[in-house]
Amino acid sequence: MSRVLKSPGQLMRAVVDDLVTTFFPADCRVCGGPLPGAGLSPLCQICLDALREQGSELCARCGEALDLDGVRFRQQAGGEGAFCSPCRMAPPEFERAQAWGVYTDGMRDAIRLLKYEREEPLARPLGLLLARVVTKLAEEGMSRGVTVIAVPLHPRKQRQRGYNQSVLLADEAVRSLRAEGWPLKVQHAAMVRMRQTDSQFGLSSRERRRNLRGAFVVRDPQAVHGCEVLLIDDIYTTGATARECARVLRQAGATKVWVATVARAQKEMVARWDASSGESLRGEVELAAR
Ligand SMILES: [Zn+2]
Ligand SMILES: [Zn+2]
Repeated sequence: MSRVLKSPGQLMRAVVDDLVTTFFPADCRVCGGPLPGAGLSPLCQICLDALREQGSELCARCGEALDLDGVRFRQQAGGEGAFCSPCRMAPPEFERAQAWGVYTDGMRDAIRLLKYEREEPLARPLGLLLARVVTKLAEEGMSRGVTVIAVPLHPRKQRQRGYNQSVLLADEAVRSLRAEGWPLKVQHAAMVRMRQTDSQFGLSSRERRRNLRGAFVVRDPQAVHGCEVLLIDDIYTTGATARECARVLRQAGATKVWVATVARAQKEMVARWDASSGESLRGEVELAAR
């Protein structure tokens, strides 16, 4: 999954590959169907159109699919503001986390291609989906002049990959929203990642949170102090990253933190990942499956 720095030979090979795909367009990387344009999106329009918006009963805070308890809670509360149990027990320091789609099927393929297979052009269509999520956050009260920050990669990881996929996604979304007149500010460099913590598998949510303590530092507090911040990531998995980033941003003086991601893993997927370590969330998850 990780990419090493290229030798001159590998670099030449990459250049040749790029030329070949430009002049001889490849097939869609997901379904194998023909791609109309050369060198554009690695996904065909059918696969892009198949990326579905999330549509179930979601936690009003973090976007987790609600279990029966959550739905009952909402009914008791008169239909407004239903929260999942983690958000009820330990509210996150962000206002709201929203995702476009569920991290499954074509969405998972698309994000994997963008992240691990150097398919940077995919940031374009996925960034436009992200822009729609940002628009929804604005409908819920987020300022259109919000300060945008992508979740940073550790410098070593960023060097290996050559780019931060969340920055690519954020910049595409910003470009399209600015074209609609949004006075967005971009401050990706304001926050840095001090520790590489991507092996979160097999940790409970509390352990994940503890594991992330100190992983992010706001290097430029001036850039966020007194501002609303919009945090951008490719995928929202357990929420530990979003929670920790929101915590340090608020500590640095951000008035509010909003979170937008392209995709969101729902509980049953997280449970499946956890199952390999023997920890099971199964009891909680069966109702979240959809
Ligand atoms: Zn396709
Ligand atoms: Zn929640």
